Amino acid sequence: MSRAAATVATDLVRAQARSLKMPGLGRSYEALARQAREEHWSHEEYLHEVLAAEVASRLDSAVRHRMGEARFPEVKTLDTFDFSAADGISGSQIAELARGDWIGRAENVIFAGPIGTGKTHLAIALGAEAARQRRRVLFGRAADLVRMLVEARDQRELSRLHRRLQNVDLLICDELGFVPFDRAGGELLFNLLADRYERRSVLVTSNLAFGEWVKVFAGDEKLTTALLDRIAHHATVITTKGKSYRMRKRSTDEKPADPPTPALSKAAKKS
Ligand code: ADP
Ligand code: MG
Repeated sequence: MSRAAATVATDLVRAQARSLKMPGLGRSYEALARQAREEHWSHEEYLHEVLAAEVASRLDSAVRHRMGEARFPEVKTLDTFDFSAADGISGSQIAELARGDWIGRAENVIFAGPIGTGKTHLAIALGAEAARQRRRVLFGRAADLVRMLVEARDQRELSRLHRRLQNVDLLICDELGFVPFDRAGGELLFNLLADRYERRSVLVTSNLAFGEWVKVFAGDEKLTTALLDRIAHHATVITTKGKSYRMRKRSTDEKPADPPTPALSKAAKKS
C-alpha cells in the first residue's frame, strides 16, 4: 500500500471507530497492525487482537461508570486493609464476600461494632469489588438515604425513587445509628430496606448492637423487629471489636515498637 493510501485508510478507520463507538479499537489498531506485520499474524489473529482491545476498553469504562454511580465518599480498598490489626474480622471471610456471590443471591451483610474499627472501610472496599464485577452499587449514609427518601416523598416521587433503587444490586447503608430518625423517616427507611428483602442486597454498618436498633427507629419496637427479621434472615453478620484503628495507630506510631533497652522502656512508661 502506498503511503497516501495508508493515510486514507487510517483516517477512514478512525472515523469508523468513532461512529461505531469503538474507542478501544480506535486507540489500538495502528500499533497492533505494526506488530502484526512484524510478527506475521494472520488477518484473523489481527482482527481478534483489535476486538480484544475494544472489549477490554468497554469493560474498563463500564467499571469506571459503576464506580462513579456508587458515590463512594472516598477510595478504600481491601489491599489497604490491615487484617492483622482488625479484631473480629476474618480475612478469608472478607475475601469470600469480595467474590460477590452473596449479591447474586440477594443476601445481606451487616457490620456492627464500635467507631473506627474498619466498618466503613470494608463497606466501601466490598462495594468497589462489586462495582468491578459491574454490579450496580449505591453508597449512602443512613441519614442521607433518609433525607433522600423524605425529599422524594415531598415531591411525590417516592415510587419513582423506589423503582430506581430496586435496580441497584447492592445498597450500602452506612452509619445506621449515628443519627436517630423521626417516626416518618424511620418508616421510609424501613420500607426501602424491607422492599429489598430477598430481591436485592443490603450492606449495613452500625455502631449499635441489634438490641439497640430500636433507638434509631423512634422507639418503634414492632417496626424494628420486622426490619431485623428481614435484614438478618439471609445475612452475614460481622462484629468488629476493639479500639479505633486510628487511635491505636497513633499510639503505636508515638511509642517505639521495640524498646532497645529495659532502662529506656521504663523511661517511656513514666512519661
Ligand atoms: P468505622 O466505620 O468502623 O467507624 P472506618 O472504616 O471509618 O471505621 O475506619 C476509620 C479509619 O481507620 C479509616 O481511615 C480506615 O481506613 C482506617 N482503618 C480502620 N481499620 C483499619 C484496618 N484494619 N486497616 C487499615 N485501615 C483501617
Ligand atoms: Mg464508619
